Amino acid sequence: MNFDNDEFRIREARSRDAADPLRSFRSRFHIPYRSKDAATTNDRGERDELIYLDGNSLGAMPVAVPQLMDDVIRRQWGTDLIRSWNDNGWIEAPSRIGSGIAELLGARSDEVLVADSVSVNLFKLLTALLSAQQSDTRRTILCEAGSFPTDTHVASGVARLTGCRLMTAAPEDLAASVDDQTAVILLSHIHYRTGARWDMAGMNRQAARHSVPVLWDLSHSIGAVPLNLPATGTQYAVGCGYKYLNGGPGAPAFLYAASDCLQHLASPLQGWMGHADPFAFEDSYRPAAGIERFLAGTPPILSMAALEAGVRLSASADMQVVWTKSCELFDLLTELVAEHCGSMELITPTKPAARGSHASFRHPHAWPINKALIARGVIGDFRTPDVLRLGLTPLYTRFEDVAQAVRILSHILKTEEWRRPEYQQTARVT
Ligand SMILES: *Cc1c(COP(=O)(O)O)cnc(C)c1O
Repeated sequence: MNFDNDEFRIREARSRDAADPLRSFRSRFHIPYRSKDAATTNDRGERDELIYLDGNSLGAMPVAVPQLMDDVIRRQWGTDLIRSWNDNGWIEAPSRIGSGIAELLGARSDEVLVADSVSVNLFKLLTALLSAQQSDTRRTILCEAGSFPTDTHVASGVARLTGCRLMTAAPEDLAASVDDQTAVILLSHIHYRTGARWDMAGMNRQAARHSVPVLWDLSHSIGAVPLNLPATGTQYAVGCGYKYLNGGPGAPAFLYAASDCLQHLASPLQGWMGHADPFAFEDSYRPAAGIERFLAGTPPILSMAALEAGVRLSASADMQVVWTKSCELFDLLTELVAEHCGSMELITPTKPAARGSHASFRHPHAWPINKALIARGVIGDFRTPDVLRLGLTPLYTRFEDVAQAVRILSHILKTEEWRRPEYQQTARVT
């Protein structure tokens, strides 16, 4: 690296890393080396670490996880067996981890529950909200067109089951589409592809004017941006455990309902774990008094244990500091890309309040470019049809990672390395 001509601002990035108030968090994550076989080293003789810019899709593993899982498997399951439900706090895991997530939402600890997947939680809350709808004429579920597919897929399934209809609207038309037939609005707070963020408070206010509840999908928000659900008037939300919460592949998701809204909500999945007294083994169903009524079956304890480690890490960080660093990483990334990778078109809003913690770039060859980046140890992802998505996770992403990633991207574009045949092959998961 020629530091006299440091066009990628590597030296500046290193000093920013040295002064970063979050720098100690990185060592609490397992960051693998960049290459699995031939070790590459940087100019300081250190072995290169992977540049992981996909924490918005699957967060990195907290180093605490293997030992924690080992304890849950060998001691709690292996030795303590069934006694663990009481002795090792298994039965409280959904509400205990929920209360950790509640801190990140600015919510009360009894307003959040960890259970199932986002898709299933969407189903439970949407159906509950439609069943609670008093008016016979409010029969429309309103969603944003082009939002994360599971949102609209689940909504259309719920519409079919409940005899309602699903209406989708472009974001700019959405507010005007709310009328006296709207039963519920389902919105993804931060868009998975563009990174655009809704004005939560503003949208809640507009919906409240029509007395319509809004259900927010916070999958790309939790652990990424500061949230205060009560302050924004948010009553219902779901979100993902395996992205910025670093809960592990397929980690359980969460569900939030403001305490003053819970009483009129009934879960359509009336499982025994959501019963007021599961071990009374009653024939008839009585919902639990609190948010636990949204439990259906037995919680997956192994997955819960990994998620708890991730939630603890995020809850121990100051989300304002995390967000400030995310904005600084975003600025460095977008400035360097604009300077050195002119063919990449930024589609993420630049105004901090209008976006989340990833940057998306459009390029007609985004797929092979992403493949070429991965081959060089820079992991982002591709979203159809032409988007390269680079996630910024301030707990473990360094300024130097961003600067090096752009240096490598610029090399790939300049040399057209992405044209290699091996980078054209498609895959099942993108
Ligand atoms: C990742 C993500 C999900 C995940 O849903 P699962 O059912 O947990 O797989 C849902 N919604 C959005 C907006 C997401 O980004």
